[in-house]
Amino acid sequence: PLFTSDDVRTMVKDYGVKFVRLQFTDIFGVLKNVSITVEQLEKALNNELMFDGSSIEGFVRIEESDMYLYPDPSTFVVFPWKPRDGAVARLICDIYNTDGTPFIGDPRYVLRRAIAEAAEMGYTMNVGPEAEFFLFHVDEAGRPTTITHDRAGYFDMTPVDLGENARRDMVLNLSQMGFEIEASHHEVAPAQHEIDFKYSDALDIADKVVTFKFVVRTIAQRHGLAATFMPKPVFGIAGSGMHLNQSLMKNGTNAFYDPGTPNKLSQDCLYYIGGIMKHIPAITAITNPTVNSYKRLVSGYEAPVYVAWSYRNRSPLIRVPAKRGQSTRIELRSPDPSCNPYLALAVCLKAGLDGIKNKIEPPAPCDRNIYELTPEERAELGIAILPESLNDATYQLSIDPVITDALGQHVMQRFMEAKRIEWDNYRQHVHPWELEQYLSKF
Ligand code: ADP
Ligand code: MG
Ligand code: MG
Ligand code: MG
Ligand code: MG
Repeated sequence: PLFTSDDVRTMVKDYGVKFVRLQFTDIFGVLKNVSITVEQLEKALNNELMFDGSSIEGFVRIEESDMYLYPDPSTFVVFPWKPRDGAVARLICDIYNTDGTPFIGDPRYVLRRAIAEAAEMGYTMNVGPEAEFFLFHVDEAGRPTTITHDRAGYFDMTPVDLGENARRDMVLNLSQMGFEIEASHHEVAPAQHEIDFKYSDALDIADKVVTFKFVVRTIAQRHGLAATFMPKPVFGIAGSGMHLNQSLMKNGTNAFYDPGTPNKLSQDCLYYIGGIMKHIPAITAITNPTVNSYKRLVSGYEAPVYVAWSYRNRSPLIRVPAKRGQSTRIELRSPDPSCNPYLALAVCLKAGLDGIKNKIEPPAPCDRNIYELTPEERAELGIAILPESLNDATYQLSIDPVITDALGQHVMQRFMEAKRIEWDNYRQHVHPWELEQYLSKF
């Protein structure tokens, strides 16, 4: 629903809202909240509320710290799990500088820029995300563990699946918040779940993904469980991905659909695939931004490792599902839910547009199981591999001018700084695996 400020004023009264959370995300996609009382709402809706940007990761230095929150009224939603008495609502905000210009380090603005570029070419991006997550037990102190209720219930003859109950509750709450839930199911691994909601335009979906993660975690907690979107919490079982189904619209119809070609895909669709495949090494730094992300991108668990596309197979980077007409789309299978959805959609869109602008033909689709090909066969088909570590990926990002440009200098610099620290920290630590391998051996 596209609400105006006046709609927000009315709804706040109707629902008896006492507190409004003003939300935005930092560069890493972490949701931030500034809670205001309803008395301050007028000020907020007039874009007069300030906050200290220097305390937000990746934003600004102390000496330039004042920033304004411009709430987007169309994102208004009342949290269904709070009592009507003193209801709590939220508004997602854009970040502005004191001089009234948009803050270039705001991830939502990064996505807005890419969307504007698409609009200039006549396109709107539609996205359907499939975020997977685990539901784990908490210990006596309430801290999350990696112990699964599923495993605990494996030999149980009277299974009371806490996870299923929690998931149903998540679906109910999300529905009340305006999500059109298409499916929710148990995933491959024990304790792993997926809830799918209907595709929408890129900005709406990025807002929905951050909201989704926050709702899932909140409801899990209310069921005495801990939800995690960490890409690979447990070695040896499937990790959590966030496939991004993508399509472009032009003049109100799906621009990826062309009934006149043998496979019914338009030339734009093929170029879009070509653009994504060209820029995927750099995109990966954004769609798979943690050290842990790369422990998911290994063979054997349906996560992609090779840069290829296919109509049938679920092993390659990009799959084109069989649906045509309005549902014609490509499914990018590498992203994981630790990414910042605003930045992830911005870099995908930018890469796809680059494909269209520069007529980047994708290689031929590969409908064989790539994992079964020998290295020689792969080389012959020109199938590259995705970056194998965060360090690889950030290097690839640093040498890709198109993706760097999509992020803008500010985000790029802060992102690289933070990821360098993260990588250095990781590589200096001694991990349990090393002790197991070497301690008694040497
Ligand atoms: P999978 O078969 O990979 O498990 P799902 O059914 O779980 O796929 O998810 C498919 C996603 O694709 C849904 O979010 C759906 O709304 C979305 N989708 C459908 N049509 C389009 C489209 N034209 N553009 C973008 N996303 C779409
Ligand atoms: Mg799915
Ligand atoms: Mg499905
Ligand atoms: Mg899945
Ligand atoms: Mg999928």
